[in-house]
Amino acid sequence: MDEYGPCQGPVNRYEALSGSGELYPRCTRHYGTYVERVQPRIDAIRQQYPDTDTPPSWFDPTYAGERWNEDD
Ligand SMILES: [Zn+2]
Repeated sequence: MDEYGPCQGPVNRYEALSGSGELYPRCTRHYGTYVERVQPRIDAIRQQYPDTDTPPSWFDPTYAGERWNEDD
């Protein structure tokens, strides 16, 4: 449970959208809210840096909401 409400659906490990390759356990609902929050930032970075698949070093995954377990 977090500010987006209680967990819903099975928990799976999803690859971080930041391109770090790390996997984070998330339920279906919170993966959805994570994508909604983070994907626009990733898209903005990719538009600014179209030649790279990975975000620049100044991209802070903590800022983007990456945590080991968001349901703590
Ligand atoms: Zn959840």
